Amino acid sequence: MKNIVIFGAPGSGKGTQSDLLVEKYGFKHISTGDVLRGEIKNGTELGKTAKAYIDKGQLIPDSLMIDILATTYDALGNCEGVIFDGFPRTIPQAEALKEMLNERNSEVSGMLELQVPDEMLIERLINRGKTSGRADDNEETIKARLEVYHNQTSPLAEWYEKEGKRHAIKGYGDIAEINARLCEVIDAL
Ligand code: AMP
Repeated sequence: MKNIVIFGAPGSGKGTQSDLLVEKYGFKHISTGDVLRGEIKNGTELGKTAKAYIDKGQLIPDSLMIDILATTYDALGNCEGVIFDGFPRTIPQAEALKEMLNERNSEVSGMLELQVPDEMLIERLINRGKTSGRADDNEETIKARLEVYHNQTSPLAEWYEKEGKRHAIKGYGDIAEINARLCEVIDAL
């Protein structure tokens, strides 16, 4: 079973590419952002807590996220593989993921990093905001999310490099071509 971390800034195409990988390989997909938006929609306590952070473009505290991730992962059952989209976003989350998989006699097979320049990310997210209905796809929150990405999340690239699991991928151009680049890496894992 493959455990794949799809990594990149907001707007780098993680969700779009995850959908294509699910279709091709039959993997299951954990998007922590989708899990949180589901909680908000259902009006749960967790959703209320999460909304306060999401609306400001900030990260939900690690301890909470790590619990959510473990619960979501254990609910998946047997499958060919899992794509982690939007998790981990901090070094403590990456350490917790490693430990969680170890406890289940498993490990991260590879981290695939979609690299996209900031100007393109901003343009993509502003465009997405016109149709996504996401409260955090507005210019002010987009800038906050990118800052959080550069400060708290991007150090993970080096963390996975040291683990020998990082694969950098050019994340712009034709969607099918980006997908082919990802598949080439996944097939070799
Ligand atoms: P996303 O859909 O992945 O862009 O996530 C939307 C928002 O959900 C983020 O800006 C965070 O506020 C929150 N979020 C999602 N995943 C995580 C995570 N792994 N750690 C902390 N916050 C998260």
